[in-house]
Amino acid sequence: MSTARRWLLVTGASRGIGRAIALKLAQDGYGIIAHCRSAPERLAPLCAEIAAVGSEARALAFDIADRAAVAAALESELIAHGPPYGVICNAGLAQDGTFAGMSGEAWDTVLTANLDGFYNVLQPLMLPMIRQRRGGRVVVLSSVAGQIGNRGQVNYSAAKAGLIGAAKALALELASRGITVNCVAPGLIETDMIAAAPREDLLKLIPAGRIGRAEEVAALVSYLCSDAAAYVTRQVIGINGGLC
Ligand code: NDP
Repeated sequence: MSTARRWLLVTGASRGIGRAIALKLAQDGYGIIAHCRSAPERLAPLCAEIAAVGSEARALAFDIADRAAVAAALESELIAHGPPYGVICNAGLAQDGTFAGMSGEAWDTVLTANLDGFYNVLQPLMLPMIRQRRGGRVVVLSSVAGQIGNRGQVNYSAAKAGLIGAAKALALELASRGITVNCVAPGLIETDMIAAAPREDLLKLIPAGRIGRAEEVAALVSYLCSDAAAYVTRQVIGINGGLC
């Protein structure tokens, strides 16, 4: 990496996979714009850990589903600090239930955060990132549910499949600019998100016989952000213990 520090925006860095990604990328030498939904002071311990590994961090908070709020926060960020080198679209949520009983609200909440969030966060950053003329990275957290569907997650599967289409199309638009766009599609990873999942039943479906760790996903994202991955774009990379 060159001497000028590259900055990456990691959405949903307050916990789970996003937190592990932020720490790993900081260890790699990137400055981290750590994001969570609200109360950015919650990111203070993470920012301290990032400083302890010799990198820098700042905190941002907005609801990725709130287009106006995202635009305002990113405009301030761009004015104060300029465009980031890349974005890890990690923030996401699930609201599970069988489709027959699914409320419109559960559908809208999941689609608006997970899929509209892609537009809300990335679109305002695109032209500024392109105009930097120094390449860049976009990594989008999809899911195995977006590849093969998951019972009780019709809304989540739709959103995560939509992200794959969006990322592949965006990769085409950005490839000549040296900005790669890839999806990471995790299987079951140990975080708050799977707290209520039927663990014993799910374990039977995972050939590796265990649930994955956030650090394992972070290692993959680290590779995709590296200079070594400059020729990897428009891909969906599963990390699922063989559950696919
Ligand atoms: P967690 O529930 O542990 O963390 C979710 C993160 O996203 C938090 O930082 C949360 O912020 C943020 N977030 C959620 N909704 C919003 C919102 N509307 N606006 C802003 N921030 C929001 O999830 P995981 O770490 O498990 O998941 C991370 C990503 O990986 C998600 O996109 C998820 O869909 C995907 N994934 C996870 C899998 C798993 O098994 N865990 C499997 C496949 C994909 P805050 O703390 O402020 O609420």
